[in-house]
Parts: sequence; structure tokens; C-alpha cells
Amino acid sequence: MKKLLISSILVILFVSVTASARARSSVQTPSKFLSETQIENFLKTTLPQNIVEQKIVFAVNQGFAKRYPSWQQGAKEVINFINTVLAKNTWKRLTIERFMTYPDAAPGSKPRDTIDKIIKNPKYHFLNRTDESAFGGMTIFYYVAPNLGILGTSGALDRLRGKPYGKGKNYGTVVIFENEQYSTLKLDDTSPLDSNDPLYVKKFLFQENSKVNRQRAMRVVLHEVGHALGLAHPDWYEFSFDDGSSEPPLMDFSQYEPAALYPTDPMTFGDALTPENAEFSNLNAQMLNRNAFLKLSIGEIFQLLARNVVVRVKNEKGKTVAGARVKVFGVDYEIKNAAPEKKRSKKYFPLRQTLRTDSEGKVKIKPPLGDLDMKKGRRFFAEIIKVAKDGKVGGAYLDTIMLQKARILDELDTFVLDVVIR
Ligand SMILES: [Zn+2]
Repeated sequence: MKKLLISSILVILFVSVTASARARSSVQTPSKFLSETQIENFLKTTLPQNIVEQKIVFAVNQGFAKRYPSWQQGAKEVINFINTVLAKNTWKRLTIERFMTYPDAAPGSKPRDTIDKIIKNPKYHFLNRTDESAFGGMTIFYYVAPNLGILGTSGALDRLRGKPYGKGKNYGTVVIFENEQYSTLKLDDTSPLDSNDPLYVKKFLFQENSKVNRQRAMRVVLHEVGHALGLAHPDWYEFSFDDGSSEPPLMDFSQYEPAALYPTDPMTFGDALTPENAEFSNLNAQMLNRNAFLKLSIGEIFQLLARNVVVRVKNEKGKTVAGARVKVFGVDYEIKNAAPEKKRSKKYFPLRQTLRTDSEGKVKIKPPLGDLDMKKGRRFFAEIIKVAKDGKVGGAYLDTIMLQKARILDELDTFVLDVVIR
């Protein structure tokens, strides 16, 4: 924890962010294109100063609804809990507009496949606004069954197109699979939730030997709802630079720990997170407020963050350096799963661009796009910038959290990353 704080301070020292003139964005995304006008409008949107109520659909599988008729009361309690957390620092609130049930998976077929079909059916979505705003809504799908195997829960916010969505509305979908013995929709808290049942522990908390109870399992729902409202995972990395060599930077993964920096943010899933202290970080709270009408999907938010990123090269005296070579390396998300001895392998740091600074010592770069690159098979949540001129070198790193802070908290249109060569 202490080590982490020290390295964060170092980062602040060599990275400075300044506002400067607006430039045209040419960032393109794999499946969606947000126009300049849409971006401008979003940035100009006044932040809500009143509660923004979002009406949602809450759906469970028919089998569970029959076996447990009071599930609707359980659903209300789940939403009450989520609203308690949202009320700490956001204007966002959820209310259940409609309870629904849907058919169970046929014997022998997978519940996930059933759900994947159902979530595309418009009858399970509730439209909050009919004007040109992208404000669609959110549906929470629970699939609860006895002896349910380990299945992935999920949360997403996507723009749906075609009939009956017209030009497209953003709908959040949350999918929760629960073993019936322990469902968060059951009102009695007497199920053996402190047991070491490995199924329960793995399925809900993804870690062994955790003390669990119904309230703690609610964290999972809260986390997925965060995604469905437009939040991503705060991913960032710590690097140390040798450099001048062709070696990739050393990455210290013991210092890569979002949960240590934001221990109570539901999106970081820290061990310290409890139902009582759960609270979105200031950054995520502002994201929720700013995107209160679900104008942007998660992919579009990344696009918004990733525009107008400029590297500015300076010498030790603070003078800008023209004609410096700037190399931009992506940091592949998959490095997190690599064996320790392979973490310096060059395959995780593909060269994305080689550029030269202009007469003002600046050059616009292709920034890390986070989840947007997922469809292409590679995700870059961070980049390493290496700079050289006349034998002098310098470096810096850039990640999507830095871009989020600049855009959302500081409301900067252009992000300038200063790199000093020595
Ligand atoms: Zn997540």
C-alpha cells in the first residue's frame, strides 16, 4: 500500500496535464462512430443537480418465480441497496417499473445461451425517453436454479439498433446467475452462507475461503449494475523506465492494484468492500452523473476519453524539443495473465506508432482505447511512450485512468503528456 502511494506521487511528478486549443478528432472505433457534434453536445451537457430516476425492468426465470413467489420483494431489496450506495455521491436512482419472468433453459441447454437470446428481445426493455436522447434503460436478469454450476455474471451498456430501437438507444443489461440455495433474492438470511461451500465462494466472490453472506453477495450485483450504467474497470499500470535500451519497461505487478487505491469502489472489488462502506470513487461518481441519461455506451465513453492526446517533449531546462522521435508502444491487456518470467516479452508491447515532434515540440498520438480494441483481439489500457533526440532519451506512460481524470474531473479537451529527455 505504502509502495503504491509513493509510485503514484512519482507519476504525478513526471506527467503534467494542460488544457490547450481544441483540435479535430480522427479517432475511429471498430463498430461505432461518434460524431464531433455528439461529442461536443455530451461535453456541454449540464450536470444534473436533481435526482435522475431511471426506470428498470427486473426479470427472473419462471421456474424460480414459481418456487419462490416472494422474489419481487427480494428484487426490491436489491434495488434499495443499490440506491443506498448511489445516494452517497450521485444523482442517479433506480426504480423498478416492471417485473417480468422468462422461460427457463430447456433441459440439456445452457442458461447462458437462453439469456443471450432473451436479452435481445425488445419486450424485456423499458424505454425511459422517446426523444432523440439515447436514454433507453436497464434490465436486470436473474437466473436462479438449484445446483447451478459456475457461470459468469455480466453487466454491459450497449447501443441497440434496428427495430424497434430506431436510430439506437442505450440499454444496460445485467445478468446474474445464482445458486438457488443462496440467492440474493431470498429474503431470509438464514441459508448457510458462511459455509465453505466452494461453489458459492467461487461463483459469487471469485476467491477461496471468503466469509460470505447474502449482503456481501450483493456486491457482485452492484458491480455489474455499475457496468450497465456505463462504468468500466479502472485499470492502470505502474512502470519503471531504464532506458535508452530497446528493452521494454519493467512492470511491477505488485503495484498494479486498483483495489488498494479505491478500496471501497464497487468497480475495483477490493477485499475491504462491504455493503456498509461501498461507495463509488469521485471519478466514477462523476461518470455516473455525467452519463445520467445514458447518452454514451461504455465503448463511446472510451472514445470520448481517447481523443486529442498530445505528447510534448521538453529538455531538462524546460524548453520544447522539435524533431524528437516519439515511439508509442501499446501495453497488451493480456500481460496480466502472463507468467512472471514472460512479463517483459516484447510481444506484449507492440509498437503502434513512430512519430516526430513538430516545431512546438508536440505530436498527436493514437491513445490507448481500452475495451474498444477488444473486438480486434487486443486491448490496450495503457501505453508506453519512448522519446529520443541526439542521444538523449525520456519516457512516460499513459493509461485510460489518466484520460478519465483529465476528461471527467478536470474537463480538459486536450490531454498533453509532457516527457523530459535527458
Ligand atoms: Zn466487471
